[in-house]
Amino acid sequence: MPIPTPELRALVCELCRNLYALGWASGTGGGMSIRDGDRIYMAPSGVQKERLAPEDLFVLDLQGQVIEAPTDPALKLSQCSPLFLNAFQRRGAGAVLHSHSENALLATLVSEDAFQVTHLEMMKGIRGTGYHDMLRVPIIENTAHECDLADSMAEAMDAYPDADAVLVRRHGVYVWGEDWVRAKTQAECYDYLFGAVVKMRQLGIDPAAIPATSRLKTA
Ligand SMILES: [Zn+2]
Repeated sequence: MPIPTPELRALVCELCRNLYALGWASGTGGGMSIRDGDRIYMAPSGVQKERLAPEDLFVLDLQGQVIEAPTDPALKLSQCSPLFLNAFQRRGAGAVLHSHSENALLATLVSEDAFQVTHLEMMKGIRGTGYHDMLRVPIIENTAHECDLADSMAEAMDAYPDADAVLVRRHGVYVWGEDWVRAKTQAECYDYLFGAVVKMRQLGIDPAAIPATSRLKTA
């Protein structure tokens, strides 16, 4: 069932308030966008994400052209827009969110080219992933300007076709899903796993190692 436009605009604002409450969008960082057919509703750049109003959103087409600007001319299109577009264009995503979560940032510091974890229950919240699988999320290097991440994000998406997220070293993560519910659910599961892996590393546990109890059962 398509969501009527006023509700969709309100939904983006509500989800931005959720991001802020989780600590994923403090200091104006992070963002959210939802696609409705060939229209993308995107939060603006550099604003208090918990105070967004429905009329503050940009509407873009699938090529990234602005088709409706916010009523306030001072609002700027997000620097993240080419990164959001990567997920809409290359994966047909229905919603994309960008988080400056501390869990995501720390996970990039305890991983090399990719975040890896296996045998954790919350992996089952990620599309196509079971408890016994190895979940991998690519990590790209941060740049001075967020828009400069677009090409390396696209390369990482091609290299990891099963991943619905790309981590950015010392920065955060982009997560998407086929609709806003899947994007939100996956973002919560990924974030939980990022935090768990950081703590496992602190405890000296290898998050990519198959636990001895599981090895015994399959032997
Ligand atoms: Zn960012």
